[in-house]
Amino acid sequence: MPSYVNPEKCDGCKALDRTACQHICPNDLMVLDKNTQKAYNRDPAMCWECYNCVKICPTQAVQVRGYADFVPMGASVTPLRSTDSIMWTVKFRNGTLKRFKFPIRTTPEGTAVPDGGFESKGDLFNAALFTEPASLGLPEVFSLNTKGGAHA
Ligand code: SF4
Ligand code: SF4
Repeated sequence: MPSYVNPEKCDGCKALDRTACQHICPNDLMVLDKNTQKAYNRDPAMCWECYNCVKICPTQAVQVRGYADFVPMGASVTPLRSTDSIMWTVKFRNGTLKRFKFPIRTTPEGTAVPDGGFESKGDLFNAALFTEPASLGLPEVFSLNTKGGAHA
C-alpha cells in the first residue's frame, strides 16, 4: 500500500531546505515540487511501505492507498504523531470512526543516547555486530572454526 501526498494538506514543510518526508524516506522517494511547494511520492512502485513519511508528516498530508481487495473504498487509516505517542484514526466506509492511541517511546524526546551508548570499534572486517559482545553479555564473540570447536 504505497503512500501518496494529499496536496490540499501539504504545506511543503513551510519551505524548509529539506522536508520531513524527504528527510525520513529510506528510499529517497519523496520530492518537493519547488513551484507548487507540494511534495509527492515520485515512484509508488518502489515504495517500501514503511510509512515513515506517513507518521512524520506534521500536517497529516501523507496517506496510504489501500489495496481494494482488503481495504474497502472510502475507508482510511490516519496516524497523528505527538512527542510521546501516536494516535491512529480508523474510518470505516459507513462513517464509523475509531481511535487508538499507543505510546511510542520510553524516554523523553531528545534524550536518546546516540548509538545506544555503544562505542564504535571502527573495524569493518569484524564479523561481530556493532553492539557485540556487550549486548550479548559475553566477554567476546565466539564462532565455529573448520577444525571443530569454538574460538573467539
Ligand atoms: S512532510 Fe508533509 S507537509 Fe512536509 S512536505 Fe512532506 S507531505 Fe508536505
Ligand atoms: S512509505 Fe516509506 S518508502 Fe514509501 S515513500 Fe514513505 S518513507 Fe518512503
